[in-house]
Amino acid sequence: MGLVTLTGNAARQTRQDRHPGQAWHDQRVRKDEGAATTSAELRAHNLARLLRAVHGGGGQLTRAELTRQLSLARGTATVLVRELAGRQLIEELASPADAPADIKVPRTRGRPTGVPSAHPQGPVALAVDLRDDSFTVAAFELTGRCTVLDHQEREAGSGTGVLADVAARLKIRRHQFGGRVVGTGVAVPSPVSAGQMVQPTLADWQDVDVAAILGGAIGDGAEEPVLAGNDATLAGLAEARRGVLRGVSVALHLHVATGIGGVLLSGGLPVTGAHGSAGEFGHMPLTGGSEPCRCGSVGCWELDAGARGLLRAVGQPEEGDRMLHAEQVIAAAGTDPGCAQALARAAEALGRGIGALVNAQDPEAVGLSGLAAEIYQAAPAAVRAGYLATLMRFRRSEPPALLPSTLGELGALTGASELVFDAFLTPRGLLAWPVPEQKTA
Ligand SMILES: [Zn+2]
Repeated sequence: MGLVTLTGNAARQTRQDRHPGQAWHDQRVRKDEGAATTSAELRAHNLARLLRAVHGGGGQLTRAELTRQLSLARGTATVLVRELAGRQLIEELASPADAPADIKVPRTRGRPTGVPSAHPQGPVALAVDLRDDSFTVAAFELTGRCTVLDHQEREAGSGTGVLADVAARLKIRRHQFGGRVVGTGVAVPSPVSAGQMVQPTLADWQDVDVAAILGGAIGDGAEEPVLAGNDATLAGLAEARRGVLRGVSVALHLHVATGIGGVLLSGGLPVTGAHGSAGEFGHMPLTGGSEPCRCGSVGCWELDAGARGLLRAVGQPEEGDRMLHAEQVIAAAGTDPGCAQALARAAEALGRGIGALVNAQDPEAVGLSGLAAEIYQAAPAAVRAGYLATLMRFRRSEPPALLPSTLGELGALTGASELVFDAFLTPRGLLAWPVPEQKTA
């Protein structure tokens, strides 16, 4: 579901050597690494590796720990850190920026070892969580620290209007952060195929390439890339990088809102299909129904699980803010028997679908975000009953853990920022980072 589209400079650099359907950044990373033969290339390669490790570690790892993790010589690491600091990409602190004041910095051979962290003038990824009726803009520093900048609610209806408002906010924020902005990531509420929203809920978003439109609208000769991906895919990517699926070798993530999306992640990388539109798990007949679905298929899982399942189970019309109404059903389940029954049904349906997907994909763990996490936390026994009922027998002694998201509402935004840093933290991406005196902020 999460195909990535590039505009601007990065697109010009990479369009020739990448098929749009195979556009996962790490292919470019591997390519860059494979080409490191001269000493200058090796140095660029090591600078990018070190920066990626600082990013991946969230600014919590000491220089000594990073040196060990990357198998660098101590002297090499010192030189690299000095260069990155000189280019204002990192700043070495005495202790992690987010650590409580009483935490002692580990020492090596009697000397303190600094903690490479985000530079106050360092790179910033802008991220947008685009919804049918609202949007959020945030800024992410190198170490993943997030500042929500804008949140705007809108009347659902005009997709073009939402995009115009997003572009206006992005222009202001790009001006504010100046040369520090290394790209913009956008999480979109639609399956994405070959860069376009292919089945959005808003009619005027049909076949729209959000990255191209926002890239053009931001204008100002912007060279940094605008990248877009499906929101559920990006929520899963975020969990693999900074949430409950971190370090999980093969993970399934399910993000439930009005529909059910998600992604399979292998080694932290999303498996997004030939065109980028894999992971539409809500549109699989996992619970045995046969009614027609809005998507064109029949018997879809989302008719029984998620917001649609909950509302159908209490006999409420599927209109207005379905997420809000679904959350009201969950909240009322403690006192209203009808809502309790609806929650139990939707929870069991959620579990049954998860069991079927685990049978198919054999993940080590399953991440749950959005309404999936809320349903699981409100009715864990019903979800587990459905899950165990559909798991094949040999899997039941050790079923993959169900892990509610720790990132919550920030999941899709965080994933969008990871798209940007994946593109930036490569030898080629770093070439775009200006020397300090050229930056405007
Ligand atoms: Zn469907």
